[in-house]
Amino acid sequence: MPLVTTTEMFKKAYEGGYAVGAFNVNNMEIVQGITEAASELKAPVILQVSAGARKYAKHAYLVKLVEAAVVDCPEIPIALHLDHGADFEICKSCIDGGFTSVMIDGSSRAFEDNIAETRKVVEYAHARGVVVEAELGKLAGIEDAVNVAADDAQFTNPAEVEEFVSKTGVDSLAIAIGTSHGAFKFKPGQKPQLRFDILEEVSRRLPGFPIVLHGASSVPQDLVKVINQFGGAMPDAIGIPEEMLRQAATMAVCKINIDSDVRVAMTAAIRKYMAENPSHFDPRQYLTPARTAVKEMVSHKITEVLGCAGKA
Ligand SMILES: [Zn+2]
Repeated sequence: MPLVTTTEMFKKAYEGGYAVGAFNVNNMEIVQGITEAASELKAPVILQVSAGARKYAKHAYLVKLVEAAVVDCPEIPIALHLDHGADFEICKSCIDGGFTSVMIDGSSRAFEDNIAETRKVVEYAHARGVVVEAELGKLAGIEDAVNVAADDAQFTNPAEVEEFVSKTGVDSLAIAIGTSHGAFKFKPGQKPQLRFDILEEVSRRLPGFPIVLHGASSVPQDLVKVINQFGGAMPDAIGIPEEMLRQAATMAVCKINIDSDVRVAMTAAIRKYMAENPSHFDPRQYLTPARTAVKEMVSHKITEVLGCAGKA
């Protein structure tokens, strides 16, 4: 099948009590590792591209890589999504350039401004058969994860969601309930918490509406250990416990974004390979186990966290 939007994926995910994985792609090995896992497990999948990925690999290369995956894996639905579009212009560029879904992230703007920019993207996207994700509330970044996670002002305010969705016409909504971007989400000893009460209140106000979780990597400690064992330095890298994400997936959350865990898996595989094979210099030699590590990570997420195996 050709590239699809997320409309049907989310409808089935909401009804089925599971979530679809949205994995960030930056190169061929990542695209292949993700889609080979999804294909083997018959899982729908969202490949998402950030502004940083477009800068690194260029728009045309990423779109063609994803189109190649669609040819290689014809039996599963694949959506191509823009992650964190900062404004109308980048969203327009991706809508015009073959994406089936875009995120307009107006979460740092004032509420009315967020509505206006999101509305503008929705009108342009819907006229071209593309769907739109927006965000309310603000996720912490890498450095200030702890302080902001403790600050209620950064969580999504459920009282705003109905007005936001009805005024913008957006197709899905990312909310902030305690996840954060990056591999250093919490301090050692700090107990990760997700505000399931906010998620419940949002879904009560928006029945049947798909919710998105960003910053949802779990940063597996066994892989961090491998990285540190083979010359890396990632002390205190901590993520969201997978059982919390599994619970969110059974609720209104239909899309869970995973980026850091794929990076960690790749880096662990490459560090280990390089350390154990110091004379090798063919990139295919270390990118092969790296690609396998991506595939294993994504397979694990599909079966143990998202619950979307067999849902293609
Ligand atoms: Zn994000």
